Amino acid sequence: MIVAEQKPLAEIRALVGDAKRVLVVGCGTCVTVCFAGGAKEAGVLGSLLRMGAQLDGNVKDVSEVTVQRQCEREYLDGIREQVEQADAVLSLGCGIGVQAIAEQFPNAIVVPGLNTSFLGKPAAHGEWVERCAACGNCLLGVTGGICPIARCAKQLLNGPCGGSSKGKCEVGTGDSKPDCAWQLIYDKLKAQDRLHLITEVAPPKDWRTSRDGGPRRIVREDLKLPSTGGQK
Ligand code: SF4
Ligand code: SF4
Repeated sequence: MIVAEQKPLAEIRALVGDAKRVLVVGCGTCVTVCFAGGAKEAGVLGSLLRMGAQLDGNVKDVSEVTVQRQCEREYLDGIREQVEQADAVLSLGCGIGVQAIAEQFPNAIVVPGLNTSFLGKPAAHGEWVERCAACGNCLLGVTGGICPIARCAKQLLNGPCGGSSKGKCEVGTGDSKPDCAWQLIYDKLKAQDRLHLITEVAPPKDWRTSRDGGPRRIVREDLKLPSTGGQK
């Protein structure tokens, strides 16, 4: 899932600025699960914006709507009228959702209400941890299912480094020191009797599949529908 956090209210209010009609758009998927941008958060934020504006003597017409997935055109079609009537759209989706709204409604002023943080999973109630950096060439098959790209501070492919100590990474202090990813990989492979994998030197990673300065794209020809001449 994509994990995000809500921006500070002062920043959101500054982004919304003088817009009179504000549409707060929640997203019903990842950001709902991490309690950052679902229907509940959209409702609370809408109320805060209304109250703040009232206190400033600058009344705003704030409404809220939540779509199942902001990143999909079909769900955004359903809010076209509301978006077109708004002076500003405050998206509580991840960065993809914000851009999906901005692309689908080119005239709309769209601002983000969240900071998109990482691809991760829940670790405990109210806690999420990063698990993937979307490198485009997954190594988990030889690392015991533990990602050295997202979980090693140096993204080492042949670890651990000399800073690994007592199972902890050298990065961080006190309780905030994360586990050394390569210690975890070693322990896992040892338990599985697959330590030969850690003694094989991994070649340099081809980072072109990760970030090469431009947006990545995946096209599955087998899943494409015949063109209807519509917008992509
Ligand atoms: S190796 Fe790459 S694709 Fe696989 S989990 Fe790590 S960052 Fe994600
Ligand atoms: S201590 Fe472990 S996790 Fe930290 S940078 Fe070194 S190898 Fe990576």
